[in-house]
Amino acid sequence: MKIRCIDCEKQFFFDRSQYRCSCGGLFDIMQDFKNVDVDALKNLFHQRLSERMTCYTSGVWRYKELIYPELPDHFIVSKNEGNTGLYTSELVNQYTGLRKVWLKAQSENPSGSFKDNGMTVAVSHGRSLGYKKYACSSTGNTSSSLAMYAAMSNVESYVFVPNQHISMNKVLQTLAYGAKVYSFEGTYDDGIQFLEKNSEHLGLYVCNSINPFRIEGQKSIVYEAAQYLNWELPEWIIVPGGALSNASALGKGLYDLFTLGFINKLPRIAIIQAEGASPFHKMFIGHENEIEPESSPYTLASALNIGNPPSWKKALQSLIDTNGVSISVTDEEILDAKAIVDKSGVGCEPASAATIAGIHKLISERVLHKDETALCILTGNILKDTEILNDYHLTDQVHAAFQNKVQPYDLTTESYKSLF
Ligand SMILES: *Cc1c(COP(=O)(O)O)cnc(C)c1O
Ligand SMILES: [Zn+2]
Repeated sequence: MKIRCIDCEKQFFFDRSQYRCSCGGLFDIMQDFKNVDVDALKNLFHQRLSERMTCYTSGVWRYKELIYPELPDHFIVSKNEGNTGLYTSELVNQYTGLRKVWLKAQSENPSGSFKDNGMTVAVSHGRSLGYKKYACSSTGNTSSSLAMYAAMSNVESYVFVPNQHISMNKVLQTLAYGAKVYSFEGTYDDGIQFLEKNSEHLGLYVCNSINPFRIEGQKSIVYEAAQYLNWELPEWIIVPGGALSNASALGKGLYDLFTLGFINKLPRIAIIQAEGASPFHKMFIGHENEIEPESSPYTLASALNIGNPPSWKKALQSLIDTNGVSISVTDEEILDAKAIVDKSGVGCEPASAATIAGIHKLISERVLHKDETALCILTGNILKDTEILNDYHLTDQVHAAFQNKVQPYDLTTESYKSLF
């Protein structure tokens, strides 16, 4: 397998775990698509929709030929990740003002977030290299996903989480899967830096998105959406931006589909950041050449609390390749949009709802038009952050346009007659 440094463009044969080139650039996996027969693959992917007990049941490994063809199947650790629903909702259409919004519910993944799409590939690759110790820095979803696959593989996982501004539900989930969890003073970015410096001599296999196999796996999100929609994607794909792995993978996946001829129209990507953690958006609208890291990012959407996104160059390439845009939205806009997605029955965690809030804003700025269609990546599950649900619906701590309070009720009176 060949890899390429995204900065100096040197190419290497990949034979061990490496995350950065000697020049500091991240690696990108180069697929050899020379012998790809698109019609044959479309048929194969279609047949695999009826798989039951093999690795091809997975909505990631279904597309193995486009993700990691060389990996022997026995290294694969899978929990039928992917295979997530693609929904529409009148309520969401109305709220955004767009003709049709598709919701791709990556929240339905086995650990409750899209991190599983990439993690199954990263951990399977680590197994093929013989690693027994896996690590990540995380605001909670990467760690939940890693801890789950590590447990299923019977290997150790070591997880570093910031000691504030994260969701306790995710930390508890990670603990429950048996990971060793270390809480540190600092942000996600400090955790990444620590691992980049220390993982090699500690013998740790790093499963953050600097690991290029994560990105290959996450391409499956757009492959799956394209397959479900008969290889015709909407005009826009909307994704929240934190560490920017998802935006990177979407761009790469779309580029694969388009250059190979699976699709003949390339959707545009919109990256939505939370205002309190939006270094990428600031760079993009300011036409800067480098990202200016934010040292104290803060947003209630805990999965987006990232000030120095490692994959920013790959994400920038995604926007260049797809004529994409970026925007930032406030926490208030995110939480109200989340309330709408929740009320639609699909549900998501705050970070995911940045997509819906983003559409709202992109329409008001006339970047998106009412008669277009969009696909939003709902990245995490409604129960990933119950504290926010509590604050929004049951307290007056946050501004909440769509609050739905519990009502006290006296069973001994006949007052119910006026309720229904
Ligand atoms: C990780 C995560 C994000 C951010 O994705 P990046 O790839 O880091 O940009 C958004 N939402 C949820 C729920 C996440 O877990
Ligand atoms: Zn390099």
